[in-house]
Amino acid sequence: MINSKKATREQTKQHNKQLVFNTIYSQDRVSRVEIARYTSLTRTTVSSVVSELMDEGLVAEVGVGPSAGGKPPILLSVVDDSYHLVGLDLANGKFRGAVFNLRGEVCHRVTVPINGRGGNDALELVYQLADQLVKSTHSPLLGIGIGAPGVIDPLQGIIHQAVNLKWENLSLAALLRDRYDLPVYLANDSHAAALGEYTFGQHDDAISLIVVKAGRGIGAGIVINGQLFYGDGYGAGEIGHVVVADNGQQCQCGNYGCLETVASSQALLEEAIAIAQKNPQSLLNQFGDSPEQLSMDQVIEAFHNGDKSLEPFLADVGRYLAVTIANLVGALNIEHIVIAGRVANFGPAVLTPLQAELQKRTLSSIVARTKIVTSSMNDDVVKLGAAALLLTYELGLT
Ligand SMILES: [Zn+2]
Repeated sequence: MINSKKATREQTKQHNKQLVFNTIYSQDRVSRVEIARYTSLTRTTVSSVVSELMDEGLVAEVGVGPSAGGKPPILLSVVDDSYHLVGLDLANGKFRGAVFNLRGEVCHRVTVPINGRGGNDALELVYQLADQLVKSTHSPLLGIGIGAPGVIDPLQGIIHQAVNLKWENLSLAALLRDRYDLPVYLANDSHAAALGEYTFGQHDDAISLIVVKAGRGIGAGIVINGQLFYGDGYGAGEIGHVVVADNGQQCQCGNYGCLETVASSQALLEEAIAIAQKNPQSLLNQFGDSPEQLSMDQVIEAFHNGDKSLEPFLADVGRYLAVTIANLVGALNIEHIVIAGRVANFGPAVLTPLQAELQKRTLSSIVARTKIVTSSMNDDVVKLGAAALLLTYELGLT
């Protein structure tokens, strides 16, 4: 009985601390009186929690606000560089990582090429990446967050299967926790992207949103009422292998016409190579040594330099994405949708046909309120989401 009372007291204390920290983080500069008003906590409780946050260095007094007649109130702010966050993105052709401050501003970046390595060799590369990042900052680290491809158990920190990296049942979180003696959190890359947009993106204070990440693979991350939705088997948003094309090509998974066969960056690259081979005059050929050696970066560069040859294919990509997004919008009625990943680099060439197709496939009153944008975080979205895992789980930021 005594123990449970003690546990409840501890929980209340923790809850109050998170509430006060969330208020200071979201308000930027705020007085103790205002915090009491926003949180409905007593001024005494607010003062004691603020002292604790100041002792930990997370919060500081930064000036005085306008007087409401009496003594002008002292304003509090989060100390953005009091702790740093390491965010890793293992879901691309290169392993990429960055050190961020508490506002998601980049302090340092590292990229490590994979060159087809898998298994233990790929794990060694993760260590190389993390070693460099951990060493690069003098601020205390809150921990390491990871966005990784494949089927992942975020609670155990295990990658069950990542085909391209030849990882099976890899306890990545535990391995890094032992190596660096820091908290480590792991999420699927699309789930991480959704948390990144939710935490650091500009989405009109939306409490729910969907990120569709279309890169080499395609997946969606779903935030509902401020919480990442993982699904019963942690596979929520696995839309890449939903069949959208009739009589389509065979996919790696064995089925035919999966979304990934027609709308992934790999599908785009194959189309670009075919165009460059067929048409030697194509602008694409000015950006690569040979059609076969074109990279996705070069295809994007050619597009931004006026190459229009991919436009019909990009319109198809937009329409196929709309087929799947119509189902998500129909099921969940979430009004903020963000397209991320390499496919988002093509902007309106994908987005405009996507929006037009969505209108044909969704109830007009619902689609009228649905806002679809491309991510403003580009290549950083997974790293930022990985870092945001630390804000969520270590500081209780919602
Ligand atoms: Zn498939």
